[in-house]
Amino acid sequence: MLALAGRPLGISCEFLAEEPTLTCEDLGKLTLFSKDRETSVIEFAERVDVITFESENIDPLLLRGVPSHKIAPALKALATARDRLNEKEICKKLGIQTAPYFSVSTPSELIDGINEVGFPCILKTRTMGYDGKGQWRLNSFEDAHAASQALDWLSMRYILEGVVPFQREVSIIGVRDRNGMTETYRLTENKHKAGILRKSQVRIEDEQQGPAEEIFAKIAGELAYVGVLAIELFESDSKLIANEIAPRVHNSGHWTIEGATTSQFENHLRAICGMPLGSCASRGASTMLNIIGNPLDQDYVLGLRGAHLHDYRKSPRPGRKLGHVTVLDIDTEDYASTIESIEQRIIDV
Ligand code: AMP
Repeated sequence: MLALAGRPLGISCEFLAEEPTLTCEDLGKLTLFSKDRETSVIEFAERVDVITFESENIDPLLLRGVPSHKIAPALKALATARDRLNEKEICKKLGIQTAPYFSVSTPSELIDGINEVGFPCILKTRTMGYDGKGQWRLNSFEDAHAASQALDWLSMRYILEGVVPFQREVSIIGVRDRNGMTETYRLTENKHKAGILRKSQVRIEDEQQGPAEEIFAKIAGELAYVGVLAIELFESDSKLIANEIAPRVHNSGHWTIEGATTSQFENHLRAICGMPLGSCASRGASTMLNIIGNPLDQDYVLGLRGAHLHDYRKSPRPGRKLGHVTVLDIDTEDYASTIESIEQRIIDV
């Protein structure tokens, strides 16, 4: 989606990936990591003007041989946002509320953590977790004991978080350019199931827009961030509590392709390439539904007025995001019923 957004701006993309992927093969040259991963990155960097990433599950050490002006966002942002403990510490420093947390590296620290944050709590791997993977919800010492037996205490470090009794989950996505100018999109309300994002909705008005923008400005400024940044938040008793910082374009911002003046993908490219930012204004209310596990009948979706289909050309697998559909209220007179009928057709696994 980044590469597609680059085409009209004359930006061409190359990709460095772990394995062959159909998603980008006809959008630019695809290079696979060689055994010497660091050298693959250095050789790649020599051919391109700027390197960015679309996942934070990347070891910053891999990029240490690349001149820093060629990497955006900077490695500091990657190092902060790929580690849940660093994310929490930066929020604490900036006076942004988070769930109560405790760093856990040994079974006895797990018990100390439970005594500190109490039940119910969630044990998470500090790095490499996504879509609810690497998380264990603990309601009792029996749960903690069972989780403890299954954990990789030698090579993984964990964080224990108190469960936040939230009323809704939202995300604030914005972009910061090389001169420190920022723009933010409308706040997105997100629905998850089994830790995976199912639905993102944008309203025209949201009373948490201002407070969320303040949180965005603090974090983006602290990280001297360049590019698109997403911050996932819980709303609990009208207060915003930071959950996760994603140093990249974000699934809950996919609605911006049709629903905003400039998509998150285009704005990310504009920021990292030193171009002026585009407006983040939204065109109205919009809803994005993820297609997970099972493909959705293409003709059915295209037959619905105003439904925008994005097929990632990924092979079906339980829990895998295969595509998404966005519906804008300005495109159809049947906004609510169109969303409902797509939701009913999505058989997710
Ligand atoms: P995460 O990978 O941290 O985004 O977690 C995935 C989902 O699990 C979140 O979107 C929430 O629905 C839920 N979750 C994670 N952490 C907490 C928490 N501390 N309190 C309540 N729910 C949580």
